[in-house]
Amino acid sequence: MHCPFCRAEDTKVIDSRLVAEGGQVRRRRECLTCGDRFTTYETAELAMPRIVKSNGEREPFNEDKLRAGMRRALEKRPVDADAVESAITRISHMLRATGEREVPSRQLGEAVMGELRGMDAVAYVRFASVYRDFQDVREFSEEVRKLNTEDG
Ligand SMILES: [Zn+2]
Repeated sequence: MHCPFCRAEDTKVIDSRLVAEGGQVRRRRECLTCGDRFTTYETAELAMPRIVKSNGEREPFNEDKLRAGMRRALEKRPVDADAVESAITRISHMLRATGEREVPSRQLGEAVMGELRGMDAVAYVRFASVYRDFQDVREFSEEVRKLNTEDG
């Protein structure tokens, strides 16, 4: 941490305490060069990363869009709405936990497929077929075959 007054690199922490109900650390620092004191606040980075689409466009993570996509895949499937919400919570958590500012849409898609796979094989294949944009029928059949092998 550079001193904001003289830009020197060496500063020492003279006081450190939790603030904002423990969500933040306030540090009082002193510059070893000019002797000036300043305060820093440290907060865990919990911002949701932006999603980088395959065409390079960035967009904010949209939970509603994710929910809509999953519901579409799960249409008329015997899956509880709570299970969908839990999956969305896990996916959001995973995105935050990356600590990245940007995450490729592919990573999000894989996470959704991972969740759907555990919930309902039909929904998984529906989602995967749209998401992965299977090049041909053979590739699609291969995916279904793998699923059946793992399930059986
Ligand atoms: Zn200084």
